[in-house]
Amino acid sequence: MIQPKITVIGSINMDLVTRTSIIPKVGETVLGESFHTIPGGKGANQAVAAARLGADVTLIGSVGNDGFGSMLKEHLQKQGINTEYIKTVEGISTGIAAITLSEGDNSIIVVSGANNEVTPALITDYEQVIAKSDLILLQLEIQVKAVIEAVRLAKKHKVPVILNPAPIQKLPRDLLLQVDYLTPNEHEQTMLLSSIDEDELYDMKEKCIVTKGANGVTIYQHQKETTIPSYKVNAIDTTGAGDTFNGALAVSLSKGKTLQEACNFANAAAALSVTKLGAQTGIPTLEEVETFLG
Ligand code: ADP
Repeated sequence: MIQPKITVIGSINMDLVTRTSIIPKVGETVLGESFHTIPGGKGANQAVAAARLGADVTLIGSVGNDGFGSMLKEHLQKQGINTEYIKTVEGISTGIAAITLSEGDNSIIVVSGANNEVTPALITDYEQVIAKSDLILLQLEIQVKAVIEAVRLAKKHKVPVILNPAPIQKLPRDLLLQVDYLTPNEHEQTMLLSSIDEDELYDMKEKCIVTKGANGVTIYQHQKETTIPSYKVNAIDTTGAGDTFNGALAVSLSKGKTLQEACNFANAAAALSVTKLGAQTGIPTLEEVETFLG
């Protein structure tokens, strides 16, 4: 398989980033230093990662009928992503994250907006897209009910699923048992496994690929824990490292690589991504990862 077909189902946001030396108090107005609009959202980030790393990517999601929505769709198209199944909804804004950065401190307001319009019914409408995919990649920035429906349809059509359980929240046990791979970071894994019964813990752990920042990833195969080390790089910005990791893992697994090989490839892609500023700008191309790996 030269170009795997990956369908990402998830969030699409515009990050509104303001730099300021003074954070305003309630009722106060200050002059900020700079302002940037940067495409984000875990769904979109992971779709961009999978596309840059060589997959044929379709993104299922939702944006508002506003300027950010059309900018983001155009941006995703330029990345070679199929945006045909991104619904534009009326009367609700595109998802945004209003980020204030001030000398190492940050404060963030996320408005999910149109991302909440990714409903189970929308997913059901796109059953054929799911059926024709080699792999489905999901996160938790859309309705959990929509995630459940996506997993149900993927399983019906025997399509493997990676669920990146971020941002972490309580999930139905059935959902966790159905997915093929879970990619929590260390904090998310603790939360995830805390609600699992002792007798199911073994099965659950076997599908976990736990990312540990600069310490690489841990996988569990036949009760044996293996760590696949990360690559040593000069880390500048680790925002979106997990998203690059997930996109890369999806590409490698859908090309039929072993779990160890796929984790190694994803570690290399994610390591390259942290050497540059920004979540999406730092995502490397397949060529860059292959050169890096020698
Ligand atoms: P998240 O961003 O979701 O919290 P992690 O911090 O665990 O996820 O990072 C995801 C992956 O990104 C790691 O498994 C690793 O491959 C890579 N990574 C993150 N930080 C670094 C770093 N400082 N150096 C090298 N690789 C890194």
